[in-house]
Amino acid sequence: ANSVFAACGTTIFETMSRLAQRHDAINLGQGFPEGLEPSAVIEQLARAAADGPHQYPSMMGLPALRHAVAAHECRFWGTGVSEAEVMVTSGATEALAACLFALIEPGDEVVVLEPLYDSYLPIIRRAGGVPRIVRLQAPNWSLPRQQLADAFGPKTKLMILNSPANPCGKVFDADELAFIAQLLERHDAIAICDEVYEHLTYDDLPHIPLMSLPGMRQRCAKIGSAGKIFSLTGWKVGWVVAAPELLNPIAKAHQYLTFTTAPALQSAVAWGLNHASAYIASLPATLSARRDRLAHGLAAIGLTPLPCQGSYFLSADFRPLGFSGTDLEFCVHITEKAGITAIPISAFFESAPPGDYARFCFAKTDQAIDEALRRLRRHF
Ligand code: PMP
Ligand code: GLN
Repeated sequence: ANSVFAACGTTIFETMSRLAQRHDAINLGQGFPEGLEPSAVIEQLARAAADGPHQYPSMMGLPALRHAVAAHECRFWGTGVSEAEVMVTSGATEALAACLFALIEPGDEVVVLEPLYDSYLPIIRRAGGVPRIVRLQAPNWSLPRQQLADAFGPKTKLMILNSPANPCGKVFDADELAFIAQLLERHDAIAICDEVYEHLTYDDLPHIPLMSLPGMRQRCAKIGSAGKIFSLTGWKVGWVVAAPELLNPIAKAHQYLTFTTAPALQSAVAWGLNHASAYIASLPATLSARRDRLAHGLAAIGLTPLPCQGSYFLSADFRPLGFSGTDLEFCVHITEKAGITAIPISAFFESAPPGDYARFCFAKTDQAIDEALRRLRRHF
């Protein structure tokens, strides 16, 4: 019972979504969009399902999708990758696991920034890695550069960089990325770049892939997710983009994790990447308006929203409401008593979080956001 996974609870996303269902609550917890699904991409899935094929595709992914991912990388980020440098996975979750299992040897150190996405630490540890956790500084989630530099050492194998970041909504700027790049070079380390929210940056902030910086092309494995790009999180189509020397071992892990991903989903995603640029371009305006709607509403009720530069998520300090329990107790309480669900920020920290914050997903319809706010206002 001392295994890494035996020590884990059920993920907070599953826990809170099931609680939301039981209480018929508006679910602003688990990060999934509502009302944003592009019908043209869904129609392509129906077409692909009718036309087939339905047998195992190549383990590296359908050629059409590998081609579309490479073209998307070149078009948006200028990373110049070729389709040979793309591997399709069953969501970014599998991509992360394949990268970590492939690249970590027991005893290797892995630098991660907290708050962090919940799958990172269990997989790092199960792979035998030793996490070196550096906390971004609340409430602005600024990067403590000296602490980051100190976390790198002779045993550092890799760093995970999530930008735009879940749950804190931080988008790393050019200066921060250059600092990270310099550390990776100095310590001959690799970066796993979790960029699933690459198209979701707001207020005209650019998303800059670490891979696009000088010297980083060979050091980065960049992870994407069609679930996020097309607001279809249940599709679980993701990918890793990396230079061949890096991608080859990752492909060896992938072949024993899932091997491949449903072909109809892959071809619909390929079509979307090739044809749905206008949809992708529309998301920042749509989602930043919803972020503002939620932030203003929460502030009017008395919570203190934190800054959010990207992603689906806004966190807010709930202590001004006078609730005295933990963040988990707060999220359970509002689910059961007010009919609105959020995620406690402590789920993204190894030890006590730096404040009393709940994370709210704003990738919802205006009506859902307004009704959630109405319920919260009525309760407090
Ligand atoms: N990384 C981050 C930061 C995420 O927020 C998520 C999920 N929402 C994932 C990875 C996993 O993405 P997928 O659903 O494609 O597995
Ligand atoms: N990434 C999503 C979130 O942060 C959840 C994904 C999952 O449930 N595994 O809410």
